[in-house]
Formats: sequence, C-alpha cells, structure tokens
Amino acid sequence: MVTIRLTNSKTRRKEDFRPIEPSNVRMYVCGPTVYDRAHLGNARPVVVFDTLYRLLRHVYGQGHVTYVRNFTDVDDKINAEALRRQKAGSPGTLEDLIHQRTEETIAWYHADMDALGALRPSHEPRATEYIGQMIAMTQGLIDTGHAYAVEGHVLFRVRSYSDYGKLSGRSVDDMIAGARVEVAPFKEDPMDFVLWKPSSGEEPGWESPWGKGRPGWHIECSAMAHELLGESFDIHGGGLDLQFPHHENEIAQSVGACGGEFVRTWMHNGFLNIDDTKMSKSLGNFFTIADVLKKFDGESVRLFMLRTHYRSPFNFSDTLLEEARSALKRLYTALDAAGPVPDLAAIDWAEPRAAAFKAAMDDDFNTPGALAVLFDLVGDVNRGQTADAALLKALAGTLGLLQAQPKAYLQGGSSVDENFVQSRIDARTAAKQARNFAAADGIRAELAALGIELKDRPQGTTWVRA
Ligand code: AMP
Ligand code: ZN
Repeated sequence: MVTIRLTNSKTRRKEDFRPIEPSNVRMYVCGPTVYDRAHLGNARPVVVFDTLYRLLRHVYGQGHVTYVRNFTDVDDKINAEALRRQKAGSPGTLEDLIHQRTEETIAWYHADMDALGALRPSHEPRATEYIGQMIAMTQGLIDTGHAYAVEGHVLFRVRSYSDYGKLSGRSVDDMIAGARVEVAPFKEDPMDFVLWKPSSGEEPGWESPWGKGRPGWHIECSAMAHELLGESFDIHGGGLDLQFPHHENEIAQSVGACGGEFVRTWMHNGFLNIDDTKMSKSLGNFFTIADVLKKFDGESVRLFMLRTHYRSPFNFSDTLLEEARSALKRLYTALDAAGPVPDLAAIDWAEPRAAAFKAAMDDDFNTPGALAVLFDLVGDVNRGQTADAALLKALAGTLGLLQAQPKAYLQGGSSVDENFVQSRIDARTAAKQARNFAAADGIRAELAALGIELKDRPQGTTWVRA
C-alpha cells in the first residue's frame, strides 16, 4: 500500500497518513454559509480538498472514500436577507424567503464549483436537516457536565475540556486575552461558547428542551460529522481561519460527547489574498467566482489555484490568472497536436516521469511540484510522442485537469465554424504540397484575420483561437 504524507495541523508535522479503515477513508470539510455568492477565496478549500479527495480515491479506490461537506443554512445573515426581502414586498412567509435564499445560494455554489471541476462530495448535508442530532448532542454535553443551560441558551463549559486550545497551540488564558469573545452576563466564563440560542418570533427556530431556538454554528459540524462519518474519522479540513475558534470548538464538543479521538489529521489551507490581505466578504476585498468566470474559464482558475502549495498563502491577480490560462493552453495545444490520444487503462507508476509526479503528490500533496512534471512532459509530447501525450493526459486527470477535448477547449467560444477552418487548412496543406507557398501563406493570413492561429507539427496542422 502506498503511503501518502500529510501535514497534520494538530501535531504541526508531516506524517504518514494511515486511515482508520483503508476500505472507508473518511473526510469532512467545513462548507459555506449559504447567504450569498461565494468569492474566489471560498473556492480555495473546495479545489484543494477536491484534489485531495481525488488523490485518496486514487490510492484507496473510488468506492473507498467518503467525503462530507456541509451547507450552513441557518445563520443570522440568511435571516437578515430574508427579512430585507420581506420588507421590500416579496411574497411568502419569512420561512419561505429564508428557504428561497438558501436554495438559490446553493444552486450558485454548485454551478461555481462544478465549473472549477470540483467533484460533488459523497454527502452535502444541510444543517437544518440535522437539528435533531444537534439537540441530542447538546443534551449529551449537558448530561456529562460539559455544558449548561441558562436563559434559553446552552453554553459549552470550555474549562471542562482540558485539551482546549491544543489544535491552535494556545492556552485558554491566552485566548481570553486575545479573542473577541462575546461577554454575556449569563456566561460562567467569557470563553464559553454557544451550542443553542433562543429564537425570537422573526427568527427560524425549533422546539427544544430549552425552548424555541436554533443551534450555534460549531455544533452543526460536530453533529453532521458524527452522523455521517462516525465518532472518529480520518481527515478534517477547512481554511486556516477556521482553526480557531471553530475547529477548536468542534473538537471540544465531539470529544466531550463521544470521548476518543475525533479526527486523526487536521488540514488547513492558506489564504487567497489581495495585496497580502485575506480575501473576505467582511473586508469587501473580494471577487465572486461568478465574476471571475466571466473572464476566465473554470479550468484555468483551477490551475491557478493548484500552482501554489495548499498551505501557502498567495495573492490574487489578473496577471497570475492569465499566466495560468496560457499554461493550460500550452498543455491542451500539445495534446491537440499529438492527435487522438488514447486513455490509459492504468498509469505505470514506475515510469520515471509518473514516479516523479507521484513523489510530489504523495509528499503533502505538492501540486506545484506535480504540475512542474507535467510541464516538463509537454516538451516530450511536442517532440511527437503519442505515448507521452497519453501519460500527460492521465496524470493531469488525477488533478482534475486536461479532460476536455483539446479542440473544444482551445476553440472555446469561437464563432468560426470548425468545418470551414478545417477545409481551409486542407486547402493550405494542398497548396504547400504543390509548393505554392504564396497561396499557403495567404490562407494562413485569412484565418489569422478571423482570430485563428495555425500550428504546424510533425503530425499535421492544428489550430487554436488566438
Ligand atoms: P465561510 O463561508 O466564510 O465560512 O468560508 C468557507 C470556507 O472558505 C472556509 O473553509 C474558509 O476558511 C474558506 N475561506 C474563506 N476566505 C478564504 C480565503 N481568502 N482564502 C482561502 N480560504 C478562504
Ligand atoms: Zn465546521
């Protein structure tokens, strides 16, 4: 069995990854709060953990990986938007408007992430469908002394869990000093966090032993992960901003409720920045994925993300996106020139370039290293090696890249008729064979005026949209 190595945030070390059950590798990634369109920063964990999901499926087998990514569909920002619509005269109850808002946001999210080539996870639970489990877990925490109910709220007693702060490497006292904790008169300790809170008439709420209310954000993930993946699972991921307090709180809740080890390997992606500042809704320095997709195709955006190691921060810029697009074009152009490329039944991992690719991926899934191998391979493909083209396509496929028809990709959006272009290329080839180079050059110029660029290769002439 292959061993991949992953950096575990919990131990701050790169470790051999050994799943609890190799026949069912289990991963949970915190999903979005569905109140508005996702921005490009939100796409980073999706692309990163999709790539890891693909790697795990490759190593352990397609049917042996369970990937859960939730939708947080109960949140004050969703309520506020629904209320705004109601006040603006939208028909329907507040509940209908909340539902409308979350449904439309989930549909946008799916469209965006599909465009980036992200596979749908095995399960995409919605928090509102697991309220019963959240209430049960909350009750369990009260029963064991980890939580207390007061004034319609239930709070987690942070001092009851001695390992609190271990993931992020802080002591409770440091956290109190540094964190913006919500001070409430009914809290035993300012660090205690909400498991359940009361809902007023306007807010969505569910009946519970503590009155009508709704869950806190952290308990949602603990309850959904427990329901779908069990008490212990292999990988839990999310952006670095979730490490504290969200993941710290998830651990306290889940270990408090179930004991044992909640998660083996914690993984956190670095930020997508703008001028070295995290792209975020609250700062207003963001581009929605939908906006970026108006200018760039999803596969180029995916490549742009994978060119940086998942733990490193990087800056967004149009120039970097353009560079990713030309790099992708280089890959597709090489494939296109190679003519029909057979799909490999299996990759021969002993082959030196495949081995170099794999070595990079197995080492904390180093996607920039793996991509470098692909770009080296392009040189060999351009020298006319069909077998190399097949290897390029197969290796890129493990990253979720290069699976479109090269022609279709390269001509994307062209209004010029393919058959027409091919007939002019045939005419030009005939002219060249007849040594009528002036006519051949004339056809090249005619096509160039239509935005069609010709490439002469040993296998024949191909074309791309300039
Ligand atoms: P949110 O809806 O804000 O909870 O974010 C959803 C996911 O996107 C979380 O895993 C965040 O950590 C992640 N995320 C948000 N902003 C960025 C960013 N600028 N770069 C990378 N990841 C981010
Ligand atoms: Zn979470």
